[in-house]
Amino acid sequence: MRTHDAVAKDYYGILGVARDASDDEIKRAYRKLARTYHPDVNPDPAAQERFKEINIAYEVLSDDQKRQIVDLGGDPYAPGGGLGGPGPGSGPFVGFQDIMDAFFGTATASGRGPRPRTRPGADAILRIELDLAETAFGVEAPVTVDTAVVCSSCAGAGTAPGTSAVTCQACGGHGQVQSVQRTFLGQVVSSRPCVACQGTGTTIPEPCPTCAGDGRVRTRRSMTVKIPAGVEDGMRIRLGGHGEVGPGGGPPGDLYVEIHERPHDVFSRKGDDLHCRVTVPMTAAALGTRLTIKTLDSEEQLEVRPGTQPNSTLRLRGRGVPHLRGTGRGDLYLHLDVRTPTKLDPEAERLLREFAKARGEEVAQLTKQGGFFSRVRDAFNGH
Ligand code: ZN
Repeated sequence: MRTHDAVAKDYYGILGVARDASDDEIKRAYRKLARTYHPDVNPDPAAQERFKEINIAYEVLSDDQKRQIVDLGGDPYAPGGGLGGPGPGSGPFVGFQDIMDAFFGTATASGRGPRPRTRPGADAILRIELDLAETAFGVEAPVTVDTAVVCSSCAGAGTAPGTSAVTCQACGGHGQVQSVQRTFLGQVVSSRPCVACQGTGTTIPEPCPTCAGDGRVRTRRSMTVKIPAGVEDGMRIRLGGHGEVGPGGGPPGDLYVEIHERPHDVFSRKGDDLHCRVTVPMTAAALGTRLTIKTLDSEEQLEVRPGTQPNSTLRLRGRGVPHLRGTGRGDLYLHLDVRTPTKLDPEAERLLREFAKARGEEVAQLTKQGGFFSRVRDAFNGH
């Protein structure tokens, strides 16, 4: 049988098995190589060539007759010395999963079979707008929720009253249809989800007229969401089981209520602290004054000390937003905007000039052209 004009291929070497390897060892070696080189898992063209070789080696060594030729030093596919018949490597590649299923019985292990008609529902999201006082102190917010709920006509079954689902004729209830592919590796059986029953194994001959067989209907319902004190813009509150009911009346997902805080006219929020601007006349800043501040939830008296500078900040402790977790509240910051009078009547101007003179400030009279600025003595000494 030995041929001298063609070098026999090392089929054992291609699979990486010993010459006395058992059928099982050959199978295992082939599976391992298929995982690395199958075109479904490895797009490299070189891998594709390699996989062709691996297929041929497997086909030869898994066939007792062909393996015997190899063991006698021959090559079943050598020119002139072969067995004839269909050449190796002909026909399309068999899908990776189909190889795994067909040769190694993973079809049952991977859980193929009818899938349940009833499946879990999706989460739903709802956005609500709240005022600062509501996010700060909490509120019972009325909301309208649009989600799928269980169809009350069929209680989720999807069948018309008095009828029920029947075993799918196309797949006999397996949810899968098998097709046999004849390849050079032998017959390969592959499974696909049944189109007639979407893989569920049952069909509904008379769908429920209310839900058209889906087992659920969309409804609009009103509910009240309890918003805790201290929530912030963008936060989501999870309401377990208030989301979409699944196909076939499957268990509902969750409902997330996303909070959007409307901008406030007076206060801006940074975390749990609040900030606002307060305008104080120059004279009040110089002489000191008492302010009445309306906070989010109270009225506070606040002292502005004599000699307060522009852009000073006063803090009202604990008058910010309550902390969402734990106790206590943020602070309220007042940014003082010291205003210089813009229009002086003659009397006010006379007094200001006298004031400047008393402080020894040199004040120039502006010309009609609005021309030049005075030199203000000691402007930077603060006297
Ligand atoms: Zn229904």
